[in-house]
Amino acid sequence: MQKKYIDFKTYSSIKVGGICEVYEISNPQDYYTLLQSGNPLNIIGKANNLLISPQAKNLIILSKDFDYIKDCGEYLEVGALTPSGKLYSYAKKHNLAGFEILRGLPGCIGGIIKMNAGLKEYEIKSSLLGILCLKNNPQLEFVKSDELSLEYRKSNINTLIFAGIFKKDKGFDENLPPLFASMRQNQPSEPSFGSCFKNPSNNYAGFLIESVGLKGKKFGKNKSLMFSQKHANFLVNLGDSSFLEVLDLIELAKKCVQEKHNILLEEEVQIFS
Ligand SMILES: Cc1cc2nc3c(=O)[nH]c(=O)nc-3n(C[C@H](O)[C@H](O)[C@H](O)COP(=O)(O)OP(=O)(O)OC[C@H]3O[C@@H](n4cnc5c(N)ncnc54)[C@H](O)[C@@H]3O)c2cc1C
Repeated sequence: MQKKYIDFKTYSSIKVGGICEVYEISNPQDYYTLLQSGNPLNIIGKANNLLISPQAKNLIILSKDFDYIKDCGEYLEVGALTPSGKLYSYAKKHNLAGFEILRGLPGCIGGIIKMNAGLKEYEIKSSLLGILCLKNNPQLEFVKSDELSLEYRKSNINTLIFAGIFKKDKGFDENLPPLFASMRQNQPSEPSFGSCFKNPSNNYAGFLIESVGLKGKKFGKNKSLMFSQKHANFLVNLGDSSFLEVLDLIELAKKCVQEKHNILLEEEVQIFS
């Protein structure tokens, strides 16, 4: 196991944070050893849905050995650090169905499974058979997807995913990527972590944020943070913003929405303090 330093101001999609120590996991035994310490471990994928404090501790990331796609005949085994775009291209080339959603969805397979990422009714769980992870010993075990409680942007996964096991259904649907591209047209291009909050049932987080007057209003010491004019549920970093400034703005939005609508917004972004 190696220790390395990652500057989350450059690594994370929101471009906020500092340089932190991160343990790089090269094999299941490395992870098992860290688990024995009893400290809660904070797993990093490609940090497209993460807000990480410069003081964050116990960070871990998989090594590049987990960036692979293996055709196992009946199914595909995909290393958890494999970027979404790589699996998308593979599925297109091999005419496989169920991976179209990965077009334009930033992240690696581990993060995408953990978050059950997707758009509207299209979610990664539809093509997932299960994951490879550790249970009570340092050997990888297969856990079926119906044991993972994969729901709207959540799962019950609280362990390191080493690989995803996927169906190999034929029939890549060429009509879906343009549909997803059009659904993404309202997403801002400035640094963000995608949707800041989950949509509450029967409502939209973006609408609620706009309704309390926070859309397009600039915050932070450098006035470099705002809920985007283009899509109010995207918190964008226009310059040099700090972890605490982002946290404050998230809390402010929750408070305003709670006061006006009596709705408690739940963060979609994962926060490592
Ligand atoms: C511009 C933009 C657009 C986006 N659009 C969408 C969208 O349309 N739909 C959508 O669902 N999301 C969207 N997102 C959010 C993001 O793409 C997804 O949440 C994605 O799943 C994050 O993957 P990641 O590898 O970056 O995970 P990270 O951000 O690194 O981590 C996210 C979570 O997954 C966990 N995790 C990461 N790797 C592993 C692993 N190997 N094992 C266990 N847990 C792990 C982390 O601990 C964390 O809890 C968008 C983000 C951006 C910046």
